Amino acid sequence: MGNNEIYPAPELLMPAGSPEKMKYAINFGADAVYAGLPLFSLRARENDFTIDKIKDNVEWVHRRGKKVYLTANIFARNLKLTPFKRHFDELLSVVKPDAIIMSDPGLMSIAKSIDPEIPIHLSVQANCMNWQAIKFWQAQGVTRVILSRELRLEEIQEMKQRVPEIELEAFVHGSICIAYSGRCLMSHYMSYRDANQGVCDNSCRYPYRVHAEESPSELWLEDTREPGTLYRLDEDEHGSYLFNAKDLCLIEHLKELRDAGICSFKVEGRTKSVFYAAIVAKVYRQAIDDMTHGKPFQKNLMDELDNLSHKGFHKGFFKGDPGQNGQNYTNDQSTRGSAFLGLVTQSASTASLQSVEPKSKIQKSDFLQALVPDDKGISKVDVRVMDIEFNGQKVDVIHSGQTKVKIFFDRPLPEGSVLCLQNSFN
Ligand code: SF4
Repeated sequence: MGNNEIYPAPELLMPAGSPEKMKYAINFGADAVYAGLPLFSLRARENDFTIDKIKDNVEWVHRRGKKVYLTANIFARNLKLTPFKRHFDELLSVVKPDAIIMSDPGLMSIAKSIDPEIPIHLSVQANCMNWQAIKFWQAQGVTRVILSRELRLEEIQEMKQRVPEIELEAFVHGSICIAYSGRCLMSHYMSYRDANQGVCDNSCRYPYRVHAEESPSELWLEDTREPGTLYRLDEDEHGSYLFNAKDLCLIEHLKELRDAGICSFKVEGRTKSVFYAAIVAKVYRQAIDDMTHGKPFQKNLMDELDNLSHKGFHKGFFKGDPGQNGQNYTNDQSTRGSAFLGLVTQSASTASLQSVEPKSKIQKSDFLQALVPDDKGISKVDVRVMDIEFNGQKVDVIHSGQTKVKIFFDRPLPEGSVLCLQNSFN
């Protein structure tokens, strides 16, 4: 299949780890966002959504004609069933999300008993890997399947051909696990934080030291977070298995995914920064719009993604097993992300005075680039820092973490503008 009449433009679905990230994702181009309640979604930490905040923010998104999917995708134990019913009874009585993202059949049946009409999207955690599984979940009332990240393009094509009426969503960008989606026990083993309960400690992404001194035939791994704790490292005929998966990036393959039947391009990263939410939304918005207008992919979009912290990019399993190319054997991510300088948090009545949340050093007389979202898209504006106030006092420089900062620019910037190093975006 290869034209827009058969499948409309897929949506851009962005993570919303906080109300602030939700707003930036929407303002910078997302069609939909996903967010969750801490007790029942896979981002239990760094998640300050409450029922009241979800209600307010879902209404804010709906007023802009966009969608919100709520995540409740843990694998629940008995003790979570009653709290889940209580929370969702209350939640669904005050707000109507566009769908709930779920993986646990028990929680699904509770959600359906509260609101039989609520659409359910099967979470990637459920690890749906074949079209028969899709048919099974469809028979349970699931309207959309978020595909496992371990699938090849041809497998996705066959799924859509065999079950054409199901909606298919695919991750196109962000961190990926070294385990099958939803089947990792590593974090629980290393630190008693169960990834399937929403508290993964990212054990697979930390540096480990290799020790060989005990015996030449035995190798041991030391977790650098816990010096002195050694784990036996085994090797079989294929070698040893160390890990640090590169990030997924399929921006150059959106058309192939759209033609395979994907209706929603999903970005991972609810714990990533506001800058990440804004820039990834902006870049993928551009790529999707270009694709739907029949324009070729613009290579400079990759440079913009490179401005963000990442572990190196690869294409996951899209074209087959990524092999060694899927792993990052260096630790070269630290310098990236340095283009981000701050956020304009409030405009003031004085024409060029703005409250700013600095995320890096900003000095008087600096020339900066501001990304300014509005109804027509994102404009890039060059601005100069004329004066800085911190706590009501004039200063020459401010740093990340300082509050009560105001900057006089040489032109007004609206609330929600993102400040970057000059020439970061062309
Ligand atoms: S430890 Fe790594 S592979 Fe396992 S769930 Fe966490 S991020 Fe994924």
